[in-house]
Amino acid sequence: MNKGKLIVFSAPSGSGKTTIVRHLLGKEDLNLEFSISAASRDPRGEEEHGKDYYFISLEQFKKHIKGEDFLEWEEVYRDNFYGTLKAEIERIWALGKNVIFDIDVAGGLRIKHKFPEQTLAVFVKPPSVDELKRRLKQRSTETDDKINMRIAKASVELATAPQFDTIIKNYDLDTAKEEAYQLVKDFVSK
Ligand code: 5GP
Repeated sequence: MNKGKLIVFSAPSGSGKTTIVRHLLGKEDLNLEFSISAASRDPRGEEEHGKDYYFISLEQFKKHIKGEDFLEWEEVYRDNFYGTLKAEIERIWALGKNVIFDIDVAGGLRIKHKFPEQTLAVFVKPPSVDELKRRLKQRSTETDDKINMRIAKASVELATAPQFDTIIKNYDLDTAKEEAYQLVKDFVSK
């Protein structure tokens, strides 16, 4: 298989990692393509199948697990499964591009362990758990229950930060975007 680089961005939900990943995807010199994950949850807001996620049923998801079609998968929240299909990475490598992932911390670390040399694993750190709560509420795409579930998970996720190659503190979004760009640029030019 082609040796395109793997760029992993992981963080608790609401840390701003998706915004940073979108910013990097706009930089042509990085030659990045987004790894579209499979997800068993319903689309939110403007999300589209085949662009943000491959939205599939829980049943289909379990079939893919059985078929060993995933590079990694996680039940990120109860009954919400997310995973990276092996075929997705092959698709991107066949285009001659580097892969960028927006995935949870466990999945991110799993990819780093599978491809240690090829992967840059970045953890995006929010200013505080309170700020995270504020951002998730502001986004208001989920019920209070779901927001609370995400916040409860955040503390556990924050503890994994030292296992990543680099930590970007997202206290100011423009600074974090620029820092991410420089990091990825250095890594893909190696
Ligand atoms: P959301 O529901 O907010 O889109 O995503 C929930 C969490 O699942 C986020 O932390 C997101 O990064 C993570 N996630 C998305 N795709 C994948 C994947 O393929 N694998 C893993 N392990 N996590 C994922």
